[in-house]
Amino acid sequence: MAISKTFSAASIRDAYSAGQRSFGENYVQEGVEKITELADLDLDWHFTGPLQSNKSRQVAARFAWVHAIDRLKIAQRLSDARGSHLPELNVCIQVNLSGEPTKSGAAAREVGALARSVSVLPRLKLRGLTTIPEPCNDVARPRVRFAELRRLLETLNTEGLGLDTLSMGMSSDLEAAILEGATIVRVGTAIFGSRSAADRASQ
Ligand SMILES: *Cc1c(COP(=O)(O)O)cnc(C)c1O
Repeated sequence: MAISKTFSAASIRDAYSAGQRSFGENYVQEGVEKITELADLDLDWHFTGPLQSNKSRQVAARFAWVHAIDRLKIAQRLSDARGSHLPELNVCIQVNLSGEPTKSGAAAREVGALARSVSVLPRLKLRGLTTIPEPCNDVARPRVRFAELRRLLETLNTEGLGLDTLSMGMSSDLEAAILEGATIVRVGTAIFGSRSAADRASQ
């Protein structure tokens, strides 16, 4: 998937011309503007940023996927807001594997209960798990985290949840993610070039 946050609708059209169909956006308003502007193209839109509950209605109306569910309340709001004329909204639970308190994502020990609750919401389809490894000088660390996420998915599937998606890997670590079974890599700068310094500071 191409992460197009901060890049223009024209850049997305260029990527579309090269065959890219799935795009990820991190900010609700920016994403909705591009979706509107590019409505003539047949695109799959993924919301990959952290989601506040007051924005859930717009996301439920305009996107096909949400990658960073980390609490039940958000999932319930998305399910309530998903129009019955639309297919179920595909969602992934974001897992904070490092336990850093400042990072978003559910703790690994909470994921089982959260997954069971999300999987029964009527207008959502729980597809799998997402993670972003903590920044680290150890180049081997991301692969360890990706393997942990894969094992967590396998454990959930022994309960019959039928999950098929591991959303993991970005420009800097996508090879390790693919080696550990990623089904969606989220690639921004390696496709579009570097984002502005101001945006990097806000990430
Ligand atoms: C920005 C972002 C990416 C892409 O990062 P790159 O390093 O530009 O590939 C992937 N996932 C999420 C959640 C992001 O916010």
